[in-house]
Amino acid sequence: MLRHGKVGAAVQNNPNTTLVTQTAPIATVTHGGRAKCLQRLVRLDLPVPATVALSFDAVHAIASGHLPDIDAIMRQFPQDALLCVRPSSEDPDWGGPSAILNIGMNDARYEVLCATLGTDAASVLFTRFVQSYAIHVDRLDPDMFDHITGEGAQALADVLRAYEDETETPFPNTRAEQLAGVLKSMARAWEGTSARLLRQAKGAPVDAGLGLVVQQMAFGVGEGECGSGVLQLVSSKTGKPQITGRYLRQSQGRDALHADAASLYITRDNRGPSLQDEVPDCFDQLVTHAQLMRTRLREEMQVEFTIENGQLRILDGVRLARSSRATVRIAVQLARDGIIPRQEALMRVEPNTLNELLHRQVDRHAKRDILGSGIAASPGAATGRIVFSATDAQASASRGEDCILVRRETSPEDIRGMHAAKAVITERGGITSHAAVIGRGIGLPCVVGVSNIRFQTRKQQLLTEDGRVIKAGEVVTVDGTNGTILLGAPAMQEAALDDAFQDLMDWADAERDIDIRANADTPADAQTARNFAAQGIGLCRTEHMFFEAGRLTVMREMIFAETSDDRRAVLERLLPMQRADFIQLFAIMQGQPVCIRLFDPPLHEFLPTDRNGQRELADALDLPLSDVTRRIEAMMEYNPMLGLRGVRLGVTVPEIYEMQARAIFEATVEASRDGDPVVPEIMIPLVSAKREVELVRTRIDAIAAAVATEKGAQFTYNLGVMVETPRAALRAGDIAQHCSFLSFGTNDLTQMTYGLSRDDAGRFMSDYVRQEVFAEDPFHSLDIDGVGELLKLGSERGRAARPDITLSICGEHGGNPESIAFCRTAGFDYVSCSPFRVPVARLAAAQLAIGHKIG
Ligand code: PEP
Ligand code: MG
Repeated sequence: MLRHGKVGAAVQNNPNTTLVTQTAPIATVTHGGRAKCLQRLVRLDLPVPATVALSFDAVHAIASGHLPDIDAIMRQFPQDALLCVRPSSEDPDWGGPSAILNIGMNDARYEVLCATLGTDAASVLFTRFVQSYAIHVDRLDPDMFDHITGEGAQALADVLRAYEDETETPFPNTRAEQLAGVLKSMARAWEGTSARLLRQAKGAPVDAGLGLVVQQMAFGVGEGECGSGVLQLVSSKTGKPQITGRYLRQSQGRDALHADAASLYITRDNRGPSLQDEVPDCFDQLVTHAQLMRTRLREEMQVEFTIENGQLRILDGVRLARSSRATVRIAVQLARDGIIPRQEALMRVEPNTLNELLHRQVDRHAKRDILGSGIAASPGAATGRIVFSATDAQASASRGEDCILVRRETSPEDIRGMHAAKAVITERGGITSHAAVIGRGIGLPCVVGVSNIRFQTRKQQLLTEDGRVIKAGEVVTVDGTNGTILLGAPAMQEAALDDAFQDLMDWADAERDIDIRANADTPADAQTARNFAAQGIGLCRTEHMFFEAGRLTVMREMIFAETSDDRRAVLERLLPMQRADFIQLFAIMQGQPVCIRLFDPPLHEFLPTDRNGQRELADALDLPLSDVTRRIEAMMEYNPMLGLRGVRLGVTVPEIYEMQARAIFEATVEASRDGDPVVPEIMIPLVSAKREVELVRTRIDAIAAAVATEKGAQFTYNLGVMVETPRAALRAGDIAQHCSFLSFGTNDLTQMTYGLSRDDAGRFMSDYVRQEVFAEDPFHSLDIDGVGELLKLGSERGRAARPDITLSICGEHGGNPESIAFCRTAGFDYVSCSPFRVPVARLAAAQLAIGHKIG
């Protein structure tokens, strides 16, 4: 083995074929990650076998037929040393050709090895080399060796004969010839179309280069203690300290990892013998080296090693493959140990990977029997028996049985069933449809727009594309993280909100410069929002409160009331319930801002759609059934639900907003009694004209004055407008004069900008994305060019009219890292997203701020 001194100057001075020394000109961008890592190991003075690195340019030249000086490369190694060649791309995830070991095996070398290792062992090595050369270098069909059995001298002779028969030439017998063949084949493989497409799919640029490293083989086969293996210091699954790996005597490469290999454990283990017990010196050195690599390479590595006659060699170090959970712990622990700064730890975790920590997930290694798929609308996974109605879901829950709610689409009527279920799947819908929004809000796994399963809801069964019938009561698993429905109950991995996660979140908060609030409708949501350290509620959709037990009937009575006075009388009964809701929200949020959106949906959503429900309603209201059905039909609205809803109800049926405003102000007085004064925020939905705001504002101001007088209390409140129609964005300057904040509702704004029903988009969205009509589902990822322009215009016009106006976004995009980047650049004060997206948003915002600071 070469030590890293002055030897090999001819190669060392050539930046394209460079002996890896402490000072050689090697960089990841010119020679690839593996070559750079090996140089780092050399700098740490670890026992790395001699290595020559070939640059991207050199490999590119080889692919075009210009070989480097092979003799000059070979002079860097002892004459009889066997060599291996391994790929070194810029990013290991981009792949590369398979490593080829034992280059230099030939008749003469075989003779020597027969004398030292015995004929059998030498034959195995040579046979394997011929086979791998034939398959990877000459690209011969692996089947050509199928008829050869055994591994001894006879097998070797047979393999060599098969090679000669197939190629009509003898097997190359010199090390130089073999090395040239290997380099050529690897260079060409990298430039091939399928390899290029494969790596581009993993994010590699079109012109991504390949480096190669030629390394002297450390021989894991031979006399004395010989073998090879891998070691890591932490668990890939949890990231917690746990020295693991395998070691296999008389082996090379990664043989120790084969499932049927008689490998040793690395540390003492009661399941069998271990390296720690059997070769303690090497074990100790190995752990010391691995710890040094961790500290100096600033990363958790997997160490590839060989023991050659009792001497430890470090062949390579690769960044440890890891789960999302381990990603967080490893980054945090490196920062806690002072190895990397906190900012770097924050930058190392991709925000969306937090989703996997916040929810239970299907275990990555579990077997999946996929029944169908749709849009991954709310992450996490859950298993249960399928039920086809909200009532059945509630009945299941009361029996203590986990269930999955299956619906064509959900409506507010299904909310209680959704709360009772463990997951929801719907045939229709997109990323902002009802089931999706509620699912994300309450952390319920949800898949919508499942177009490849037939929902036969009358028959209470699902019919899959491959003809399987899944009946009510059968157990399925919903994987809301990747949008699949699985048969049965695969193994799960639990959520992991551990100390590492908490530290990461605290560090994120110290960095970020945009506030993060949560969309929360119920006390339970608000509590989740607080647990995830949201800085207030950015959107409380009050209509959900009217679906609670005991309220729906009152609501229906109000809808059927003939006169304004009758409506007021019924709303009087809802008032104390709403007041109690708000008192509870204010209490949970402990002085943090709470933005309450006034009633938004069309009224028909509160009315029964089925005959039984309508009959019950007729009984309750003491009206003829025909009157009830006629009224319901007259009120019916259809997707995209752009009729009598939002502020249009506020203007035409003002009693509802008046009741809500009173409930908010009375709750404000109540909640401010024993604590800091509460300053509620009231938001008007679906505004498109300034006059709408003027009308509603006048009424709300009057109610505020009345409550203040009645209660003898002083309070203030902020009135804001939800900008979710294109016109409101364009006229934001007028509108801003009448309110103190503008919150962009990007769900409706996207729907209206595209003229695309948010509840029906799922039917063709995947086709549209596949054919690149849309880069991404615009309901999922903010359309910066179109909807973004409206946001920009609206915010600029709003701010010009009222410089102190508060700007925010509260559509589902609020939790999306790219949308947060947009809002931050546009100078928004906060983003508001589903409670379970809050950690993702906190981390994404921190990364943006760090990126900004470090330029
Ligand atoms: C919106 O339209 O962006 C919004 C937040 O409101 P909703 O989803 O309730 O329509
Ligand atoms: Mg809306």
